[in-house]
Amino acid sequence: MSGEEADIAVIGAGPSGLISAREASLRGAKVVVLEEHGEIGLPCHCAGLLSIKGLREINVPVDGPYVLNRVRGAYFFSPSNLSFSIEGREHIACVVNRHVFDLFLAEQASKSGAIIRLNSRVRKVKRLGDYWILDSGGEVAAKILIDAEGAASRILQTIGLETLNISSLLSGLQVDLEGVSLNPDYVEVHFSNRLAPGLFAWVIPLSEESARVGLACKGSDVRERLFKFIKKRFGERFDNKMRGLRFYSGLVITQGPIKKTYGDALLVVGDSAGQVKPISGGGVVFGGKCASIAGEVVSRAIGENDASENFLKTYEVKWRGEIGRELRTALFIRNILNKLSDRDLDKIFSIVIEEEIYRDVSEKGEMDFHGNLIVKAVRGRRLLRLLPMLIKAMITLH
Ligand SMILES: Cc1cc2nc3c(=O)[nH]c(=O)nc-3n(C[C@H](O)[C@H](O)[C@H](O)COP(=O)(O)OP(=O)(O)OC[C@H]3O[C@@H](n4cnc5c(N)ncnc54)[C@H](O)[C@@H]3O)c2cc1C
Repeated sequence: MSGEEADIAVIGAGPSGLISAREASLRGAKVVVLEEHGEIGLPCHCAGLLSIKGLREINVPVDGPYVLNRVRGAYFFSPSNLSFSIEGREHIACVVNRHVFDLFLAEQASKSGAIIRLNSRVRKVKRLGDYWILDSGGEVAAKILIDAEGAASRILQTIGLETLNISSLLSGLQVDLEGVSLNPDYVEVHFSNRLAPGLFAWVIPLSEESARVGLACKGSDVRERLFKFIKKRFGERFDNKMRGLRFYSGLVITQGPIKKTYGDALLVVGDSAGQVKPISGGGVVFGGKCASIAGEVVSRAIGENDASENFLKTYEVKWRGEIGRELRTALFIRNILNKLSDRDLDKIFSIVIEEEIYRDVSEKGEMDFHGNLIVKAVRGRRLLRLLPMLIKAMITLH
């Protein structure tokens, strides 16, 4: 066989690809990661808000050089500026520099033995006997393929598994602003289906005077919407300052996971698999958890010389066991949120404030499993008061 040979080939050196590579090579598998860009973590397309609990669960230190700030909670705003906060007793999340974060993960993966090839865009994959042959300029032959190529998943489209619905992906855009004034301990989440249909706008503090400000929505006019939000939140003076700032964009996933994430000698992880929280679009922690499972399962498959679909199914069973229920609940809530008018959102905010529903959610200090938390908090009288809006939204769900 010509070219490089490996047990596992991973397409994509984002967090999910790197964590699966780290876990598989730690257990002795020979892993090659192929990344299309010339540098890990660039271009950056992430706000970098990661729960401290989640980071620990994916074996990433919470005090690494990538941490820019730590937050205790979030202020939530309705379309007409009603607001409540959810906070933990201690810091619950880190704001990270994703470039430095991804570099750290690459170092972890390399130290455990994985080989990372940059400037190696996989253009084609084909099956030849028991091997996958990946064409990225040179050829790599591997017994198992892990697809971790992110939201656009172009290669996966050619393999035959169902991919994400491209038309349901949201456009996200953000910018780092200096000279603002805010509470550095709290993230801001601004809901409005007129301003940000499909998600929300966010302000993530980097310090008392600087913030990462972004918005994701359906449709193509995300830039105008973000400008509008920045002017509304920080004042007209930012109108002139906008030119010359560096904006970064990306695709945000809120549609839940693909139906099947394994095949013969094949696993799909991270954004590519839709392992992203549908309420917030955050995918690093859930993708990382699934990637850890993937790394463990593929290394066993290599050890037992069994890369069959039947063996690799364990991956899907395990990850769905950990986050499947949360993803289902959160997707249900996301679909309802998408159907609400701004008036309905305002009404829901006033009920959450009057009934102090946010207190129950606060107490848990949980950032990743918020779907199930919300369902638990909305019971009895609270549910009765919310019912008219929920029924209206559910009637139009398809
Ligand atoms: C605006 C925005 C803000 C976000 N904010 C947050 C947040 O605050 N917290 C959070 O948890 N998540 C956030 N996310 C989501 C988060 O960025 C993703 O869930 C996460 O990056 C997924 O990691 P991944 O490794 O699966 O995919 P990616 O990070 O997309 O990595 C995929 C890698 O594969 C490479 N690749 C693709 N195709 C090929 C190919 N054919 N050959 C070789 N290489 C290839 C790409 O270059 C890339 O490096 C945000 C997303 C956006 C767009």
